[in-house]
Amino acid sequence: MDISLYIHFPFCLRKCLYCDFNSLAGSRIAPDAYVAAVVREMELRAERLPASAAAPTLYFGGGTPSLMEPDQVARLIEAAAKLFGLMDDAEVTIEANPGTLTLEKLAGYRAAGVNRLSLGVQSFSDEMLVFLGRVHTAREALDSFAAARAAGFANIGIDLIHSVPGETPAGWREELAQAVRLGPEHISAYALTVEEGTPFHLLEKEGQLPLPDEEEGVAMFRDTAALLRAAGYEHYEISNFARPGFRSRHNQLYWQRGNCLGFGAGAHSFLRSPAYGVRWRNSLSPEAYLQAVSRAVLAEEELTPLAERDAMAEFFFLGLRLLDGVAPAQFCREFGITVEEAYPGVLAQLLAEGLVETREGFVRLTGRGLDLANQVFVRFL
Ligand code: SF4
Repeated sequence: MDISLYIHFPFCLRKCLYCDFNSLAGSRIAPDAYVAAVVREMELRAERLPASAAAPTLYFGGGTPSLMEPDQVARLIEAAAKLFGLMDDAEVTIEANPGTLTLEKLAGYRAAGVNRLSLGVQSFSDEMLVFLGRVHTAREALDSFAAARAAGFANIGIDLIHSVPGETPAGWREELAQAVRLGPEHISAYALTVEEGTPFHLLEKEGQLPLPDEEEGVAMFRDTAALLRAAGYEHYEISNFARPGFRSRHNQLYWQRGNCLGFGAGAHSFLRSPAYGVRWRNSLSPEAYLQAVSRAVLAEEELTPLAERDAMAEFFFLGLRLLDGVAPAQFCREFGITVEEAYPGVLAQLLAEGLVETREGFVRLTGRGLDLANQVFVRFL
């Protein structure tokens, strides 16, 4: 079976004001010690798993993994290749933040075997970046992109955030136009979400976070799809767009419920067996993670075997995020019953409401279904 690999680096220069990821500003743990612990965790996991096919993807996420030096990234890639195998054409991605990159570092990542860069641009407006609490300027983002090209990266994705307080649909269209002018292979465009426990959540509770209203949010989402499609990007997932041939292989596997082993503090894992699959995550605390691994213990927490019904729900609410949709025949192969038997009348109702359509054996969201995706997903819970 194919198993993708994910490595979490939970440290950042500073915490962004909207962030609820497992990331800490600064660290008392030396990056070399953290990298050694991740290698040790990989060894412990490899000892416990039967041999699997070489991994199709390896993804460094965070946090800010671009705070690692190229030799540290190289050590992790070598360990992954030795312990799990990496396909010859494996997609190896690193998330990188402007403000942490130099041409030399980027060239080092390429030499280490990284072939895809996911650059956290978020906005081309300095005012917006300050508001979000990002550590970098728009100029630094543009310079990082140019440096990545100069270092030989031919597959670069950029992340953008819309629906930020004060942002108008016209302002967002200008952000998109700048992104298109830059010419990345991949663009992720997410609406700002206010997560509990973040400084933005406090501001919202005090009525001091004037988010765009729902209508403006929908307008920005529709403009994103229209502008990026017109510029030659395939809209392949609700919030993701790619030039032909440049969809994120790693993230597609996630939406298709592919196997993924996560390493590092707070990393999530999913295996499709036994039974209907099992999910777990590692200790969120880097200190607790390092202590466990130093005792040759896997820092697993929240180990959750999926019930059949959970797996069925995931099949739809993850799979329908992809604009190619899901195949009812595949559902039948996986669960041994038809969609109609599992969800009587649901598909017919969604079709009647114009939220999904069927084509060539697949069910997928319509334009209206994309606007109202959450209303579709809850029908399968
Ligand atoms: S850089 Fe990313 S992970 Fe780090 S604090 Fe900001 S949003 Fe969170």
